[in-house]
Amino acid sequence: MYKHFWLNGEAVELPVGKVVCVGRNYAEHAKELNNPIPVEPLLFMKPASSIVPLEQEIILKAGFGRVDYETEIAVLIGSKLRDVSEGEAKAGIAGVGVALDLTLRDLQSKLKEKGHPWEKAKGFDGSCPLSGFVPAERIEDWENIPVQLHIDGKLRQDGNSSQMLNGILPLICYISTYFTLEPGDVVITGTPAGVGSLESGMQLKAAIPDVLECTTSVE
Ligand code: ZN
Repeated sequence: MYKHFWLNGEAVELPVGKVVCVGRNYAEHAKELNNPIPVEPLLFMKPASSIVPLEQEIILKAGFGRVDYETEIAVLIGSKLRDVSEGEAKAGIAGVGVALDLTLRDLQSKLKEKGHPWEKAKGFDGSCPLSGFVPAERIEDWENIPVQLHIDGKLRQDGNSSQMLNGILPLICYISTYFTLEPGDVVITGTPAGVGSLESGMQLKAAIPDVLECTTSVE
């Protein structure tokens, strides 16, 4: 599936194969949901059909229970990565943006209880609102990238990649030992603490301060 991405203000078209996601990558977030801290990265995926522009109004599907926001640093892959080193991972990143990993939390809890896969709760249509990307060269230190979410003017999530249990480059290496990353694939790198449910009428601003920001609202 081809998707348009905004990279440095220019529209580029890339074939998106997958969005690879990591769960519980910030200790404080694992704690707030009473989840144990994983010893290895906890990976899952969203299909290409989950991606929508973040600027687009978020539509809450009726009858699916609570929809949570999780604000995450998103990485756009620019070249084929398989079994890579950190240096190769860094060279293979095309851009950096922000994503909301939308989660049907009630459904996820039920699926988790039964030990079933999470896909319906995490990979539904529209579950990955994605901002435009800035070129990876704009990032000086991959272990010091702030990420924030304001809702109705109030700071609700305030994290930094320095707090990740698995940093962005080691995470891409790890992912690439299981799934070859292809140009146009996206990696979303876990949410800091402060997740909560979306309600009608909310105004959201997701940002990597000083690098990019993106506003949206809930219908
Ligand atoms: Zn997440």
